Amino acid sequence: MALLPELQFRSLSTRLAVLYAGLFAGVLLAVSALFSISVQEIARVQVARQLVASGAVYDRLWQQRTRQMQDAAQLLARDFGFREASATGDSATAASALANLKGRLNANLAVVISADGRVIGIEQPALRRDIARLWDALDSGQMSGVAAIGGRTRQVAAAPIMAPTLTGWIVFASDIDARELRGLEKLSAIPLHAGVIVSAGPGRWRDAADGSLLAGVVAAPVADSLDKHEAFNASIGGTASIGFAKSLPAMVAGDRAALLLSYSRAEALAAYRPVQWAMGLIALLGLIVVIVATWRTARRITEPLERLDEAAERLAEGDYRQLAVEGRDELARLASGFNRMAREIEEREQRITHLAFNDVLTGLANRSMFHRHVDLLLERSGSGDVLALLCLDLDHFKTVNDTMGHGVGDQLLVALAARLRETARDCFVARLGGDEFVVVQPLVAGRLSVDRLAQELIKAVARPIELEGQQITPSTSIGISFSPDDGIDAATLLRNADLALYRAKADGRGTYSFFEESLNARAQERRQVESDLRLAIVRGEFELHFQPLFDLEKGLIGSFEALIRWNHPTRGLVSPLDFIPVAEDTGMIVPIGAWVMREACHQAASWPDHVRVAVNVSSVQFHRSGLSETILGALAASGLAPHRLEVEITESIFLEGSEATLKLLHSLRSLGIRIALDDFGTGYSSLSYLQSFPFDKLKIDRSFIQALLTRPGASAVVRAITDLARALGMETTAEGVEETAQLAELYAHGCSSVQGFLLSKPIAAGEVAALFSEPGSFGATIERSARTA
Ligand code: C2E
Ligand code: CA
Ligand code: CA
Repeated sequence: MALLPELQFRSLSTRLAVLYAGLFAGVLLAVSALFSISVQEIARVQVARQLVASGAVYDRLWQQRTRQMQDAAQLLARDFGFREASATGDSATAASALANLKGRLNANLAVVISADGRVIGIEQPALRRDIARLWDALDSGQMSGVAAIGGRTRQVAAAPIMAPTLTGWIVFASDIDARELRGLEKLSAIPLHAGVIVSAGPGRWRDAADGSLLAGVVAAPVADSLDKHEAFNASIGGTASIGFAKSLPAMVAGDRAALLLSYSRAEALAAYRPVQWAMGLIALLGLIVVIVATWRTARRITEPLERLDEAAERLAEGDYRQLAVEGRDELARLASGFNRMAREIEEREQRITHLAFNDVLTGLANRSMFHRHVDLLLERSGSGDVLALLCLDLDHFKTVNDTMGHGVGDQLLVALAARLRETARDCFVARLGGDEFVVVQPLVAGRLSVDRLAQELIKAVARPIELEGQQITPSTSIGISFSPDDGIDAATLLRNADLALYRAKADGRGTYSFFEESLNARAQERRQVESDLRLAIVRGEFELHFQPLFDLEKGLIGSFEALIRWNHPTRGLVSPLDFIPVAEDTGMIVPIGAWVMREACHQAASWPDHVRVAVNVSSVQFHRSGLSETILGALAASGLAPHRLEVEITESIFLEGSEATLKLLHSLRSLGIRIALDDFGTGYSSLSYLQSFPFDKLKIDRSFIQALLTRPGASAVVRAITDLARALGMETTAEGVEETAQLAELYAHGCSSVQGFLLSKPIAAGEVAALFSEPGSFGATIERSARTA
């Protein structure tokens, strides 16, 4: 029992079957043992009874034989002739009578023992001494018994001869009759073995028939049995037997003899063998029945458990199939509990997967889902299948977010996501983050279908939308890449579509553009610029050029705008338009801007007092700490008065953290530094900034000036700007004035100052001084223009 729980079974049903079969087998074994013991006991009792009965029969046979010999001896003792002959010593007559009788009795010894102990009529004189030993018993009146004569155990019977007084005894002896023993064996109801044993000293016995010693194991029980008249178990003649010993009366003290009856136990049990077989068979059948029944019962319990086990394993692999519930027992309840659990896990997992792979705001797939999906598509599609990846980026989304709030920005994204999904029906649409979306068009037939899709997407996005009472007209730019030409994995395709997107934005927003290898080259070039820029700072490859701004009211040069130039060792002069964005992206604009500020102030310090210097400050500089320190440091180092420094900023500085920006602007202005808003009119909501900060000057963007002469309403716009600025107490500068006609019109509109190639291109620092000495040429130009107007 204690062993069973330690055995490791793979299945509960085997364990139960083994347990119950073991228990049953144990009980069976105990019953069989009891049965076998009792069968043996019954057999022993029955055999013992037979043996005792046979012993009694032998007793009677023994007594009969004794009486037969005694009767014959008495008859002869009473015979007158014999008495005469023995009295007269006629031994020949007596001997013949004895011999005659001996023959008839079938005895092997017949003698006369005289009262004084002489043995008369003996045929074998060698036996005389053994026979003489009988005298004592005869003299004490014992007339029969066993005696050893001539080494043989014999049955002796005697009768006294009275003539008339006792003269002697007639003694007959015969070998213990083997035939009698065989007869006895035959008489018995059971095939027993009968023999006579004689004492061979204390505790030792020998077989009377062949003289062999009985083994010790037999001798001891024999002695016991003699006293108790009980059967005993012993190995007799090499076979396990049941024995019974019965002592025979002895004539001579010491000549003890006994009848030994024995019966082989195997034979005794043979009768019970069929019963035992039957018993064994029943036990075996019972065992089989128990095993089968237990196993089947166990199966009935364990089968649902196994199904549960399998289901649990499936569950671990993400298979949420429900289990069939049968019945209403504990197992059924367990199964329905399991089903409930599986359902809940499934729901939870779906929720988690949804969260992990979907954008919470728009419900579109997210970036990880995009990667998984595209990589899977590419894996599945053969090399021939073409897949197009359209990367969308909303134009000026940041401005919407910043000016109208994130709530409106979110609403716009949700609305546009729905439009994308609706337009790109058979495509996979994902939001990569921010205002960046991607549309994957599988199995593209050719560029034409992608062209059509891109146009439709741009059109769909561009539909005006009203959010919180304001109408917004969104727009998007799209970059497109193809698999397998532009990449065979999601990451490469996306990177290349992104490059194409940059191009689309550069080409003018609201357009789409396909990826080309050259874009990669351009990206490569940009990286090159980046590393060259780092060196440029160290090597001092920058220089400042200055472009004058002519004050129309005062009729003189009021200020110079500092414009950076990069003397690249191999490329020559690099335009700020090419490297300023890179410097801004990498943060290198900060040290570069600081150098510009120091250099500009340094140069301006040597100009006449009424001439200011205008320095462009990037929004990136505004959002990094240290800008005011840089400006104050430059002023202090050059000794330039703060009111002679004008900082030019663009609207982009308001796009993030406008609070801090305004604070910084105010603090600069409180020092006397002038603030100009550059490129005015190109931004999203230029007008809204005018109210938030009292700029000293607006610089009207070059595009308006160029449009003055070509586009009809442009003049009115410029007029409105100058009027507004004047109303707000701000000066205005017209940028990019190239023609006198433009100048005349600006003059008429009341523009404060002008800047452009018409007056002067940006010039090296060393050439500035010359302009002060001959200002006449400017004055003349302006006169001319005014006259034209
Ligand atoms: P911006 O601030 O608008 O500067 C005026 C630009 O217009 C200058 O280009 C100038 O050469 C150009 N320009 C002036 N008059 C005319 C004209 O009549 N016709 C035409 N077509 N162009 C004219 P530049 O020097 O190439 O500078 C380009 C831009 O680079 C600047 O635009 C400014 O945004 C940026 N930049 C230049 N220097 C610096 C600098 O030191 N720091 C920062 N942060 N940006 C700078
Ligand atoms: Ca400028
Ligand atoms: Ca400008």
